[in-house]
Amino acid sequence: MKIIVQKYGGSSVADTEKIKNVAKRISKKIDEGAKLVVVVSAMGKTTDNLIKLAKEITHNIVPRELDMLLTTGEQVSASLLSLALNDIGKKSKSLNAFQAGIVTTGDFTQARIKNLKSKKIKYLFKDNDAIIVTGFQGITEEGEITTLGRGGSDTSAVAVAAALNAKCEIYSDVAGIFTTDPRIHPAAKKLKYITYDEMLEMSSLGAKVLHSRSVEIAKKFGITIYCGSTFSDEEGSYVMKKNIEQPVVSGLSVMDNQTQVTLSNLPLDYNLVQQIFEKVAKEGLNVDMISVISNTGLNIAFTIIEEKKSHVAKALSQILKDMKGFNINYHSGFSKISIVGIGMKSSSGVASKYFKALEKIPIKLVTTSEIKISCLVEEKYKDKAVKALIDSFEL
Ligand code: ADP
Ligand code: ASP
Ligand code: MG
Repeated sequence: MKIIVQKYGGSSVADTEKIKNVAKRISKKIDEGAKLVVVVSAMGKTTDNLIKLAKEITHNIVPRELDMLLTTGEQVSASLLSLALNDIGKKSKSLNAFQAGIVTTGDFTQARIKNLKSKKIKYLFKDNDAIIVTGFQGITEEGEITTLGRGGSDTSAVAVAAALNAKCEIYSDVAGIFTTDPRIHPAAKKLKYITYDEMLEMSSLGAKVLHSRSVEIAKKFGITIYCGSTFSDEEGSYVMKKNIEQPVVSGLSVMDNQTQVTLSNLPLDYNLVQQIFEKVAKEGLNVDMISVISNTGLNIAFTIIEEKKSHVAKALSQILKDMKGFNINYHSGFSKISIVGIGMKSSSGVASKYFKALEKIPIKLVTTSEIKISCLVEEKYKDKAVKALIDSFEL
Protein backbone atom coordinates (compact mmCIF):
# COMPACT_ATOMS: atom_id res chain seq x y z
CA MET A 1 0.00 0.00 0.00
CA LYS A 2 1.51 3.34 -1.09
CA ILE A 3 0.78 5.93 1.57
CA ILE A 4 1.46 9.63 1.06
CA VAL A 5 1.12 12.23 3.79
CA GLN A 6 0.11 15.64 2.49
CA LYS A 7 -0.33 18.81 4.49
CA TYR A 8 -2.36 21.83 3.44
CA GLY A 9 -1.89 25.09 5.35
CA GLY A 10 -4.37 27.82 6.23
CA SER A 11 -4.18 29.70 2.94
CA SER A 12 -4.75 26.46 0.99
CA VAL A 13 -8.06 25.84 2.77
CA ALA A 14 -9.06 29.48 3.31
CA ASP A 15 -12.58 29.11 1.86
CA THR A 16 -14.90 26.38 0.64
CA GLU A 17 -13.81 26.80 -3.02
CA LYS A 18 -10.20 26.25 -1.97
CA ILE A 19 -11.22 23.21 0.09
CA LYS A 20 -12.94 21.78 -3.00
CA ASN A 21 -9.74 22.42 -4.98
CA VAL A 22 -7.71 20.50 -2.38
CA ALA A 23 -10.26 17.66 -2.54
CA LYS A 24 -9.72 17.49 -6.32
CA ARG A 25 -5.94 17.24 -5.88
CA ILE A 26 -6.38 14.43 -3.37
CA SER A 27 -8.87 12.68 -5.62
CA LYS A 28 -6.33 12.69 -8.47
CA LYS A 29 -3.73 10.98 -6.25
CA ILE A 30 -6.29 8.39 -5.15
CA ASP A 31 -7.05 7.65 -8.80
CA GLU A 32 -3.32 7.07 -9.32
CA GLY A 33 -3.49 4.35 -6.66
CA ALA A 34 -2.31 6.11 -3.49
CA LYS A 35 -3.79 6.15 -0.01
CA LEU A 36 -3.47 9.56 1.63
CA VAL A 37 -3.27 10.97 5.11
CA VAL A 38 -4.06 14.66 4.75
CA VAL A 39 -3.13 16.99 7.58
CA VAL A 40 -4.92 20.33 7.54
CA SER A 41 -4.58 23.69 9.26
CA ALA A 42 -7.44 25.96 10.22
CA MET A 43 -9.09 27.96 7.42
CA GLY A 44 -7.25 31.21 6.53
CA LYS A 45 -6.86 33.52 9.51
CA THR A 46 -9.11 31.45 11.81
CA THR A 47 -6.44 30.91 14.48
CA ASP A 48 -5.63 34.65 14.62
CA ASN A 49 -9.33 35.45 14.89
CA LEU A 50 -9.84 32.96 17.72
CA ILE A 51 -6.92 34.50 19.62
CA LYS A 52 -8.52 37.91 19.09
CA LEU A 53 -11.77 36.65 20.59
CA ALA A 54 -9.98 35.35 23.67
CA LYS A 55 -8.23 38.72 24.07
CA GLU A 56 -11.60 40.48 23.90
CA ILE A 57 -12.68 38.44 26.92
CA THR A 58 -9.54 38.73 29.07
CA HIS A 59 -5.90 39.80 29.23
CA ASN A 60 -5.23 36.81 31.42
CA ILE A 61 -5.61 33.95 28.98
CA VAL A 62 -5.26 30.54 30.61
CA PRO A 63 -3.16 28.40 28.22
CA ARG A 64 -5.35 25.31 28.66
CA GLU A 65 -8.47 27.20 27.64
CA LEU A 66 -6.68 28.82 24.73
CA ASP A 67 -5.82 25.36 23.40
CA MET A 68 -9.46 24.24 23.79
CA LEU A 69 -10.40 27.24 21.69
CA LEU A 70 -7.69 27.08 19.01
CA THR A 71 -8.09 23.38 18.24
CA THR A 72 -11.64 24.01 17.02
CA GLY A 73 -10.21 25.70 13.90
CA GLU A 74 -8.52 22.59 12.56
CA GLN A 75 -11.58 20.47 13.27
CA VAL A 76 -13.68 22.68 10.98
CA SER A 77 -11.32 22.36 8.01
CA ALA A 78 -10.79 18.61 8.50
CA SER A 79 -14.49 17.82 8.44
CA LEU A 80 -15.19 20.17 5.52
CA LEU A 81 -12.41 18.57 3.46
CA SER A 82 -13.74 15.10 4.21
CA LEU A 83 -17.23 16.22 3.18
CA ALA A 84 -15.80 17.64 -0.06
CA LEU A 85 -14.12 14.31 -0.81
CA ASN A 86 -17.27 12.33 -0.05
CA ASP A 87 -19.15 14.69 -2.33
CA ILE A 88 -16.93 13.78 -5.30
CA GLY A 89 -17.29 10.08 -4.56
CA LYS A 90 -14.11 9.43 -2.57
CA LYS A 91 -14.09 7.45 0.64
CA SER A 92 -12.60 9.49 3.43
CA LYS A 93 -12.91 10.08 7.17
CA SER A 94 -11.70 12.95 9.31
CA LEU A 95 -10.02 12.49 12.67
CA ASN A 96 -9.06 14.93 15.38
CA ALA A 97 -5.86 14.44 17.38
CA PHE A 98 -7.66 12.46 20.05
CA GLN A 99 -9.06 10.04 17.48
CA ALA A 100 -5.78 9.84 15.56
CA GLY A 101 -3.83 9.17 18.79
CA ILE A 102 -1.36 12.07 18.60
CA VAL A 103 0.03 12.04 22.14
CA THR A 104 1.86 15.14 23.39
CA THR A 105 3.42 16.60 26.51
CA GLY A 106 1.15 18.77 28.65
CA ASP A 107 2.82 22.10 27.76
CA PHE A 108 -0.27 23.95 26.62
CA THR A 109 0.30 26.20 23.58
CA GLN A 110 3.71 24.64 22.93
CA ALA A 111 3.29 20.90 23.45
CA ARG A 112 5.69 18.39 21.88
CA ILE A 113 4.57 15.17 20.22
CA LYS A 114 5.66 12.15 22.29
CA ASN A 115 4.21 9.41 20.14
CA LEU A 116 1.63 8.68 17.54
CA LYS A 117 -0.58 5.61 17.59
CA SER A 118 -0.92 4.91 13.88
CA LYS A 119 -3.08 1.77 14.36
CA LYS A 120 -6.33 3.63 13.90
CA ILE A 121 -5.23 5.30 10.65
CA LYS A 122 -4.02 1.99 9.23
CA TYR A 123 -7.28 0.31 10.24
CA LEU A 124 -9.37 3.03 8.58
CA PHE A 125 -7.47 2.55 5.31
CA LYS A 126 -9.30 -0.78 4.92
CA ASP A 127 -12.45 1.13 3.98
CA ASN A 128 -11.13 4.59 3.05
CA ASP A 129 -8.70 6.12 0.60
CA ALA A 130 -8.05 9.35 2.48
CA ILE A 131 -7.85 10.06 6.20
CA ILE A 132 -8.01 13.73 7.06
CA VAL A 133 -6.21 14.62 10.30
CA THR A 134 -6.39 17.91 12.20
CA GLY A 135 -2.94 19.52 12.32
CA PHE A 136 -1.48 21.60 15.17
CA GLN A 137 -3.18 19.64 17.96
CA GLY A 138 -2.54 16.75 20.30
CA ILE A 139 -3.83 15.04 23.38
CA THR A 140 -1.99 14.31 26.64
CA GLU A 141 -2.01 10.90 28.36
CA GLU A 142 -4.50 12.50 30.78
CA GLY A 143 -6.85 13.41 27.93
CA GLU A 144 -6.14 17.15 27.84
CA ILE A 145 -6.20 18.90 24.47
CA THR A 146 -2.98 20.70 23.49
CA THR A 147 -1.53 22.68 20.59
CA LEU A 148 1.98 22.50 19.17
CA GLY A 149 2.75 26.22 18.80
CA ARG A 150 1.90 28.54 15.91
CA GLY A 151 2.57 26.92 12.56
CA GLY A 152 2.54 23.49 14.22
CA SER A 153 0.55 21.65 11.54
CA ASP A 154 3.79 21.04 9.64
CA THR A 155 5.00 19.14 12.68
CA SER A 156 1.81 17.07 12.83
CA ALA A 157 2.33 16.11 9.18
CA VAL A 158 5.96 15.06 9.56
CA ALA A 159 5.14 13.10 12.73
CA VAL A 160 2.38 11.20 10.90
CA ALA A 161 4.77 10.52 7.99
CA ALA A 162 7.41 9.23 10.41
CA ALA A 163 4.90 6.96 12.16
CA LEU A 164 3.70 5.50 8.85
CA ASN A 165 7.10 5.60 7.17
CA ALA A 166 5.48 7.51 4.33
CA LYS A 167 6.41 10.33 1.95
CA CYS A 168 5.68 13.79 3.31
CA GLU A 169 4.50 16.64 1.09
CA ILE A 170 3.77 20.09 2.51
CA TYR A 171 1.71 22.45 0.38
CA SER A 172 1.32 26.16 0.94
CA ASP A 173 0.90 29.39 -1.00
CA VAL A 174 4.52 29.42 -2.20
CA ALA A 175 6.15 26.98 -4.62
CA GLY A 176 8.86 25.77 -2.25
CA ILE A 177 11.69 27.04 -0.12
CA PHE A 178 13.36 30.18 -1.36
CA THR A 179 16.63 31.88 -0.46
CA THR A 180 14.52 34.37 1.49
CA ASP A 181 10.80 35.14 1.90
CA PRO A 182 9.54 35.43 -1.72
CA ARG A 183 6.54 37.51 -0.61
CA ILE A 184 8.83 40.23 0.68
CA HIS A 185 11.61 39.79 -1.90
CA PRO A 186 10.06 38.63 -5.17
CA ALA A 187 13.53 38.15 -6.69
CA ALA A 188 14.37 35.41 -4.13
CA LYS A 189 15.51 32.18 -5.76
CA LYS A 190 13.85 28.83 -5.24
CA LEU A 191 16.12 26.18 -3.74
CA LYS A 192 15.83 22.70 -5.16
CA TYR A 193 17.46 21.15 -2.11
CA ILE A 194 18.15 22.29 1.42
CA THR A 195 19.64 20.22 4.25
CA TYR A 196 17.87 19.55 7.54
CA ASP A 197 20.44 21.61 9.42
CA GLU A 198 20.10 24.61 7.13
CA MET A 199 16.30 24.44 7.21
CA LEU A 200 16.35 24.13 11.00
CA GLU A 201 18.33 27.35 11.25
CA MET A 202 16.19 29.10 8.62
CA SER A 203 12.97 28.14 10.45
CA SER A 204 14.20 28.94 13.93
CA LEU A 205 15.51 32.26 12.64
CA GLY A 206 12.19 33.37 11.22
CA ALA A 207 11.34 31.57 7.94
CA LYS A 208 7.82 30.41 8.75
CA VAL A 209 7.54 28.25 5.63
CA LEU A 210 8.22 25.23 7.89
CA HIS A 211 7.71 24.87 11.65
CA SER A 212 11.20 24.22 13.05
CA ARG A 213 10.08 21.22 15.12
CA SER A 214 8.84 19.54 11.91
CA VAL A 215 12.37 19.72 10.54
CA GLU A 216 13.77 18.29 13.79
CA ILE A 217 11.46 15.28 13.51
CA ALA A 218 12.22 14.83 9.81
CA LYS A 219 15.94 14.83 10.57
CA LYS A 220 15.53 12.35 13.42
CA PHE A 221 13.55 9.87 11.32
CA GLY A 222 15.21 10.56 7.95
CA ILE A 223 11.97 11.76 6.32
CA THR A 224 12.45 13.86 3.17
CA ILE A 225 10.03 16.81 3.18
CA TYR A 226 8.80 18.03 -0.18
CA CYS A 227 7.48 21.61 -0.13
CA GLY A 228 5.34 22.81 -3.01
CA SER A 229 2.44 25.05 -3.95
CA THR A 230 -1.23 24.10 -3.56
CA PHE A 231 -2.08 26.33 -6.46
CA SER A 232 0.37 25.20 -9.17
CA ASP A 233 2.22 22.13 -10.37
CA GLU A 234 5.58 23.90 -10.39
CA GLU A 235 8.38 21.70 -9.01
CA GLY A 236 9.06 22.53 -5.34
CA SER A 237 11.93 21.97 -2.89
CA TYR A 238 13.28 19.02 -0.93
CA VAL A 239 14.47 19.18 2.66
CA MET A 240 16.84 16.27 3.13
CA LYS A 241 20.12 15.03 4.56
CA LYS A 242 22.47 16.19 1.82
CA ASN A 243 22.49 19.20 -0.43
CA ILE A 244 24.03 18.08 -3.68
CA GLU A 245 24.52 21.69 -4.74
CA GLN A 246 26.35 22.79 -1.54
CA PRO A 247 26.13 26.58 -1.88
CA VAL A 248 28.15 28.54 0.70
CA VAL A 249 25.11 30.55 1.76
CA SER A 250 21.70 29.01 1.07
CA GLY A 251 19.36 31.51 2.60
CA LEU A 252 18.53 34.53 4.69
CA SER A 253 15.92 34.77 7.46
CA VAL A 254 14.59 37.77 9.33
CA MET A 255 12.95 37.86 12.73
CA ASP A 256 11.25 41.05 13.87
CA ASN A 257 9.99 42.18 17.29
CA GLN A 258 13.24 41.53 19.08
CA THR A 259 13.94 43.19 22.43
CA GLN A 260 17.44 43.54 23.79
CA VAL A 261 17.71 43.17 27.56
CA THR A 262 20.87 44.66 29.07
CA LEU A 263 21.93 44.26 32.66
CA SER A 264 24.89 46.43 33.54
CA ASN A 265 27.02 46.94 36.61
CA LEU A 266 26.08 43.69 38.28
CA PRO A 267 28.49 42.42 40.95
CA LEU A 268 31.34 40.32 39.53
CA ASP A 269 29.79 37.04 40.56
CA TYR A 270 29.79 34.39 37.84
CA ASN A 271 27.22 32.32 39.69
CA LEU A 272 24.82 35.08 38.90
CA VAL A 273 25.09 34.41 35.17
CA GLN A 274 24.04 30.82 35.74
CA GLN A 275 21.26 31.83 38.14
CA ILE A 276 19.80 34.35 35.71
CA PHE A 277 19.70 31.95 32.77
CA GLU A 278 18.43 29.11 34.93
CA LYS A 279 15.54 31.23 36.15
CA VAL A 280 14.69 32.36 32.65
CA ALA A 281 14.76 28.74 31.40
CA LYS A 282 12.54 27.58 34.27
CA GLU A 283 9.97 30.14 33.21
CA GLY A 284 9.98 28.56 29.74
CA LEU A 285 11.42 31.74 28.18
CA ASN A 286 13.64 31.58 25.13
CA VAL A 287 16.66 33.85 25.12
CA ASP A 288 19.05 34.34 22.27
CA MET A 289 22.10 36.37 21.19
CA ILE A 290 23.76 36.38 24.59
CA SER A 291 26.80 38.44 25.46
CA VAL A 292 28.57 38.46 28.83
CA ILE A 293 31.27 41.05 29.41
CA SER A 294 33.13 41.53 32.66
CA ASN A 295 35.26 44.55 33.56
CA THR A 296 34.74 46.40 36.83
CA GLY A 297 31.29 44.82 37.00
CA LEU A 298 29.38 42.20 35.11
CA ASN A 299 27.42 43.21 32.00
CA ILE A 300 24.96 40.81 30.43
CA ALA A 301 22.90 41.32 27.28
CA PHE A 302 20.50 39.00 25.53
CA THR A 303 17.52 39.16 23.20
CA ILE A 304 13.96 37.98 23.66
CA ILE A 305 10.81 38.36 21.61
CA GLU A 306 9.02 41.57 22.48
CA GLU A 307 5.84 39.96 23.76
CA LYS A 308 7.79 38.19 26.53
CA LYS A 309 9.17 41.46 27.94
CA SER A 310 6.96 41.66 31.02
CA HIS A 311 7.39 37.95 31.77
CA VAL A 312 11.20 38.33 31.60
CA ALA A 313 11.10 41.51 33.68
CA LYS A 314 9.16 39.67 36.39
CA ALA A 315 11.60 36.73 36.40
CA LEU A 316 14.63 39.04 36.60
CA SER A 317 13.20 41.13 39.41
CA GLN A 318 12.73 37.97 41.45
CA ILE A 319 16.34 36.88 40.95
CA LEU A 320 17.85 40.34 41.52
CA LYS A 321 15.54 41.50 44.31
CA ASP A 322 18.30 41.81 46.94
CA MET A 323 20.84 43.50 44.68
CA LYS A 324 21.56 47.21 44.34
CA GLY A 325 23.50 49.53 42.04
CA PHE A 326 22.87 47.78 38.74
CA ASN A 327 20.78 48.83 35.74
CA ILE A 328 18.31 46.92 33.61
CA ASN A 329 17.26 48.25 30.22
CA TYR A 330 14.82 46.90 27.69
CA HIS A 331 15.24 48.19 24.13
CA SER A 332 12.57 47.07 21.71
CA GLY A 333 12.28 47.51 17.97
CA PHE A 334 15.15 45.31 16.77
CA SER A 335 15.31 42.77 13.96
CA LYS A 336 17.54 39.75 13.80
CA ILE A 337 18.96 39.07 10.34
CA SER A 338 20.68 35.76 9.68
CA ILE A 339 22.42 34.09 6.78
CA VAL A 340 22.51 30.30 6.73
CA GLY A 341 24.57 27.83 4.73
CA ILE A 342 26.11 24.43 5.20
CA GLY A 343 28.99 25.49 2.92
CA MET A 344 30.17 27.99 5.57
CA LYS A 345 31.73 25.10 7.42
CA SER A 346 34.31 24.61 4.71
CA SER A 347 34.85 28.04 3.24
CA SER A 348 36.65 31.02 4.65
CA GLY A 349 35.89 34.67 4.16
CA VAL A 350 32.15 34.46 4.79
CA ALA A 351 32.31 36.63 7.91
CA SER A 352 34.45 39.27 6.22
CA LYS A 353 32.06 39.41 3.26
CA TYR A 354 29.14 39.66 5.72
CA PHE A 355 30.63 42.60 7.61
CA LYS A 356 31.72 44.26 4.36
CA ALA A 357 28.10 44.11 3.16
CA LEU A 358 26.90 45.64 6.44
CA GLU A 359 29.69 48.20 6.82
CA LYS A 360 27.33 51.21 6.93
CA ILE A 361 24.86 49.64 9.32
CA PRO A 362 25.14 49.87 13.12
CA ILE A 363 25.12 46.29 14.41
CA LYS A 364 24.16 45.75 18.06
CA LEU A 365 25.00 42.08 18.59
CA VAL A 366 26.37 39.21 16.54
CA THR A 367 26.12 35.46 17.08
CA THR A 368 27.43 32.65 14.93
CA SER A 369 27.29 28.89 14.64
CA GLU A 370 29.07 26.60 12.19
CA ILE A 371 26.39 27.26 9.58
CA LYS A 372 24.93 30.70 10.37
CA ILE A 373 25.74 34.31 11.20
CA SER A 374 23.08 36.46 12.87
CA CYS A 375 23.13 40.15 13.68
CA LEU A 376 20.79 42.41 15.57
CA VAL A 377 19.94 45.78 14.02
CA GLU A 378 17.38 48.48 14.70
CA GLU A 379 14.28 47.86 12.64
CA LYS A 380 14.84 51.07 10.66
CA TYR A 381 18.05 49.56 9.21
CA LYS A 382 16.47 46.19 8.42
CA ASP A 383 15.59 46.69 4.76
CA LYS A 384 18.96 48.19 3.95
CA ALA A 385 20.80 45.36 5.72
CA VAL A 386 18.72 42.64 4.07
CA LYS A 387 19.22 44.16 0.64
CA ALA A 388 22.96 44.45 1.15
CA LEU A 389 23.21 40.79 2.18
CA ILE A 390 20.97 39.56 -0.64
CA ASP A 391 23.13 41.43 -3.17
CA SER A 392 26.41 40.40 -1.66
CA PHE A 393 25.60 36.69 -1.34
CA GLU A 394 23.50 36.61 -4.54
CA LEU A 395 20.39 35.34 -2.77
P1 ADP B 1 0.79 27.66 5.65
O1 ADP B 1 -0.35 28.48 6.17
O2 ADP B 1 0.48 26.92 4.40
O3 ADP B 1 1.41 26.81 6.70
P2 ADP B 1 2.75 29.69 6.08
O4 ADP B 1 2.19 31.05 5.92
O5 ADP B 1 2.90 29.16 7.46
O6 ADP B 1 1.88 28.70 5.18
O7 ADP B 1 4.17 29.56 5.36
C1 ADP B 1 4.31 29.99 4.04
C2 ADP B 1 4.87 31.40 4.00
O8 ADP B 1 6.21 31.36 4.48
C3 ADP B 1 4.99 32.01 2.64
O9 ADP B 1 3.80 32.67 2.26
C4 ADP B 1 6.15 32.97 2.77
O10 ADP B 1 5.73 34.30 2.91
C5 ADP B 1 6.83 32.57 4.08
N1 ADP B 1 8.28 32.36 3.96
C6 ADP B 1 9.20 32.90 4.81
N2 ADP B 1 10.44 32.57 4.47
C7 ADP B 1 10.33 31.77 3.36
C8 ADP B 1 11.28 31.10 2.55
N3 ADP B 1 12.61 31.17 2.80
N4 ADP B 1 10.81 30.36 1.49
C9 ADP B 1 9.49 30.29 1.25
N5 ADP B 1 8.54 30.90 2.00
C10 ADP B 1 8.94 31.64 3.04
N1 ASP C 1 -3.61 27.04 12.53
C1 ASP C 1 -2.38 27.05 13.27
C2 ASP C 1 -1.73 28.42 13.19
O1 ASP C 1 -2.26 29.31 12.55
C3 ASP C 1 -1.44 25.96 12.88
C4 ASP C 1 -0.83 26.06 11.50
O2 ASP C 1 -1.26 26.87 10.68
O3 ASP C 1 0.10 25.29 11.23
O4 ASP C 1 -0.71 28.63 13.80
MG1 MG D 1 2.61 27.33 8.36
